[in-house]
Amino acid sequence: SEPLLKVENLKKYYPIKNGVLGRVSETVRAVDGVSFSVNEGETLGIVGESGCGKSTTGRMIMRLIEPTEGKVSFEGKNILSLSKSDLRRVRKDIQMIFQDPFASLNPRQTVGKIIEEPMIVHGMGNHKERKQRVEELLELVGLSAYHAKRYPHQFSGGQRQRIGIARALAVRPKLIIADEPVSALDVSVQSQVLNLLQDLQKKFHLTYIFIAHDLSVVRHISNRVGVMYLGKMVEISDSEILYDHPKHPYTKALLSAVPIPDPNSRSERIILSGDVPSPAHPPAGCTFHDRCPVAMDLCAREKPVMKKLEDGRLVSCHLYD
Ligand code: SF4
Ligand code: MG
Repeated sequence: SEPLLKVENLKKYYPIKNGVLGRVSETVRAVDGVSFSVNEGETLGIVGESGCGKSTTGRMIMRLIEPTEGKVSFEGKNILSLSKSDLRRVRKDIQMIFQDPFASLNPRQTVGKIIEEPMIVHGMGNHKERKQRVEELLELVGLSAYHAKRYPHQFSGGQRQRIGIARALAVRPKLIIADEPVSALDVSVQSQVLNLLQDLQKKFHLTYIFIAHDLSVVRHISNRVGVMYLGKMVEISDSEILYDHPKHPYTKALLSAVPIPDPNSRSERIILSGDVPSPAHPPAGCTFHDRCPVAMDLCAREKPVMKKLEDGRLVSCHLYD
């Protein structure tokens, strides 16, 4: 069947002015031709270092950032060509959860008001019905009805993220884009929030895009994982296959940095040389070539393209031409 969401060749280029009097103009390729799809009811993890374009990709899906180019189809409709009223409807079906729950919650509003707001925006229910729904939502995310009268600063980081989740659920979305929702939390709290997200997914048949900078965070929650480097998707695969047998040299390096519980299976840590290049000056050929431990001559000249391997994974690397 058709995927719930299909992203094709999505790009975000920013012009920047540099140098004396801002005369030199350059282009930052924040996202440079990303394609993937998400099936109903699954979780796609998107992983990469900061600045790789994963958050920008998430925001472009909802048009919180306007793409420079590309296509985003949600339930078969191209989001990028929707009228304002149709876009509003899609923004009900797709909700976001953000990294810093404190920054994304208005400190002067009660938690009840914060959770109610998206229902008001989308014209759902009357005041009494919304109030009741707020109480249900609070209990659903492991808080209590009486918390509706309190303010965000009265909650811990983990509780604030639960409030953010309740707010996202308020309008009964189909797809939730979670942008590093547990990165700011302690490890023990991280797993509680991840478990909650998984329970809610089962209960409401939700579809998730889960953005993280660390492969270990998305391991248990994701059905499939996409790895991004410098504005491009370099490998997309079923989670099990990806974690057991990564193919792209960048995925291998990221995975080698993840601590493995079984010391016998620990493979050697791959240390990459140099820093991530600037997205204003991406290297020619494969953008990973100046850091890749197995780069060949060809890699500096020719851009690899995404290929589908026999196990169904997609990988963009000349080793698999
Ligand atoms: Fe490394 Fe070449 Fe593959 Fe790029 S294309 S990841 S440089 S081997
Ligand atoms: Mg980010």
